[in-house]
Amino acid sequence: MRIVDIRETSIALKSDLRNAVFDFSEMTTSVVAVITDVIRDGKPVAGFAFNSTGRYACGAQMRARFIPRILKAPPESLLDVAGSNLDPEKILACMMQREKPGGHTERSVAIGTIEVACWDAAAKIAGLPLHALIAKKYNKNKYLSKVPCYVGGGWYAPGKGIPELLAEIREKFDQGYRTMKIKVGGMSIPEDVARVEAALKLIGDSARLAVDANAGFDRERALAYAKALAPYRLRWFEEPTDPLDYALLAEVAAIYEAPIGTGENLFSTQDVKNLITFGGLRADRDIIQTDVPQSYGIAQFGKTLAMMQERGWSPQSVFPHGGNQMTLHIVGGFGLGGCEAYPGVFGMFAGFADDAQVEDGWLKLPDRPGIGFEAQNALYAEMRKLL
Ligand code: MG
Repeated sequence: MRIVDIRETSIALKSDLRNAVFDFSEMTTSVVAVITDVIRDGKPVAGFAFNSTGRYACGAQMRARFIPRILKAPPESLLDVAGSNLDPEKILACMMQREKPGGHTERSVAIGTIEVACWDAAAKIAGLPLHALIAKKYNKNKYLSKVPCYVGGGWYAPGKGIPELLAEIREKFDQGYRTMKIKVGGMSIPEDVARVEAALKLIGDSARLAVDANAGFDRERALAYAKALAPYRLRWFEEPTDPLDYALLAEVAAIYEAPIGTGENLFSTQDVKNLITFGGLRADRDIIQTDVPQSYGIAQFGKTLAMMQERGWSPQSVFPHGGNQMTLHIVGGFGLGGCEAYPGVFGMFAGFADDAQVEDGWLKLPDRPGIGFEAQNALYAEMRKLL
């Protein structure tokens, strides 16, 4: 068997959202199809992926380096020992040829997106849902059949005050969610604290409300927010600092006792190692939020997780960034802490199978082979155009 072709395209997100740092008006994402010569149900098996949310499409790197490297490699060098399926670890190594160490995001998103599409193809060839294939390879065949799923929201919008925020929270809880994350940092501290207090009063449990500052604070503001938010003991305080400012993060952690979440803007195993070594984070409570398709993909994430476990961190402390089906399978297959969701926010790229339903804060793993983009009509219509 072999990979016949790899195709990619860039799709605009068309979102009018903004967080504390930037707006999404120009945001795009790369969609990838990895086409094999394996026939299932009369058609060649193709694997799909997209580069999650918040990082722009990266087709130039794919076209210039990573796709040609894979297509030029001897097909058998990319297969498992039995020669009957793709081996994503070998495909990752093939893409990494002649790449200089460090400087990860220039390539980690492009490589990770292609890698995850290879996993989708491999899982379809194996006849397994992706989480089952991940569990077979990395987790002694143990996977979760349902995962905790929290909802992200509380974005800033013109004319959106506390009543509108509370209406949004009520709507999400009516949809089955039980934990919500809202943005902070886009207003003054007293205004944001008033939003947090109102949300807490409605939700009634500080373990069910998280806040996200999107790495927008300088030192003074990060410390001021940490002091202001600490008494509420929220589920977590996300990205209080620049993702690479480990010293400032350690300062925040020293005065903020409740959990801190971060890591969605770190793209390598070494970055996460630096984070947990130098960021003052605490393995017994803090949350690591790697975005797997943006960080070289699933095989590399297996290494990141093993590195974390060697240092006393549980897989349960990982809540990967990206409310999508790729992340859902990754949470289920590796037995991670939970999954996020952004229903209706990032257009066709948000969410799970069209009929997926969050029940009392839990989301079931899909059971069709692969990732299951075929059950997301709008997204799959775009992916199918690549065939
Ligand atoms: Mg975030």
